[in-house]
Amino acid sequence: MTVLRPGVAESDPARDGALRGVPAQPPHRSSPANGVPHNSSSQQPNAGLVQLHESIAALFASRGQWRQAYHHLRSALDLLSSEQIEPPHVPEQLRNEVDRLRREHAEAREQSLRDSLTASYNRRYLDQRLVDLLTEQERNTTGGLAVALVDLDWFKQVNDTYGHLIGDRVLQRVVELLQDGLPEGGFCARYGGEEFVLVLPDIDAPTAVAVCEAARARAERFSWQQLAAGLRVTVSIGLAHEPAPEQGGAPLSVDPQAQLLRADSLLYVAKQSGRNAVAYRESGRVRLAGAAAGRRAVAEPRVVGYY
Ligand code: GH3
Ligand code: MG
Ligand code: MG
Repeated sequence: MTVLRPGVAESDPARDGALRGVPAQPPHRSSPANGVPHNSSSQQPNAGLVQLHESIAALFASRGQWRQAYHHLRSALDLLSSEQIEPPHVPEQLRNEVDRLRREHAEAREQSLRDSLTASYNRRYLDQRLVDLLTEQERNTTGGLAVALVDLDWFKQVNDTYGHLIGDRVLQRVVELLQDGLPEGGFCARYGGEEFVLVLPDIDAPTAVAVCEAARARAERFSWQQLAAGLRVTVSIGLAHEPAPEQGGAPLSVDPQAQLLRADSLLYVAKQSGRNAVAYRESGRVRLAGAAAGRRAVAEPRVVGYY
């Protein structure tokens, strides 16, 4: 009766008998009884093993089994780096396939961090990056970290009036407009639905306000008639700036959620104060940026205690 070992899915020439007795991992070099031919040179004791791994790699490559081929090639390279033996000849087909696998892996990883509709970064990327940035900032005491929550105004009406397809195109265009003028290192991520987050690392508070106000103005000024007659779109933004510790800020707790909550609270102010505005906090007071600064009624944040 044949007993199948679990976890063995693909055939391995070494296992199948093509190279019976050859281990996938290099055995200890001082075991001549292991059936592995090797160079007897005392300078290059692993040269035979390297050749062997190279041969197995070529065999796998000829069968199109690129992962196994890559594995044996890596073993050969590991031996080489420890022994400084002349690099093995890498079959060109194998080299191309390894490059292709690497590219595909990088592309798949990039896609897993993007939102499929707007191509902006997604929530997973945002969460990872914010933790990294807050940790870096704590160590490096840079200019501060700005997190802005952007929400489209009356977007339900856009869908209701023009349909979801136009609504989707509006979201895509808004992302382009938001991303257009971001400083180096800044990025836009979709937070969910019609809400986006702008992250601006290493930035002081006045510059962060200016960047967000410019983004708001780009959305307001864009000629939305291109998408549908009569269409008009604006955004509201809540901006929370976390100063670097040396600028007088409290020691940072590495908690991205806390800064997002502050931004959300300020977004509420922007909405309540007439929308199409950027709300931020300066010297303990909530303010509106740019043209909206002249508006009289600025509502207080709905959640007290974040500041
Ligand atoms: P406010 O100014 O208060 O934010 O009003 P609003 O209408 O923008 O907010 P509300 O939360 O009432 O509506 C949000 C709408 O966003 C409802 C939802 O259908 C729409 N939406 C969310 N995600 C998508 C999407 O991927 N595509 C489209 N077309 N619409 C979306
Ligand atoms: Mg919303
Ligand atoms: Mg909205």
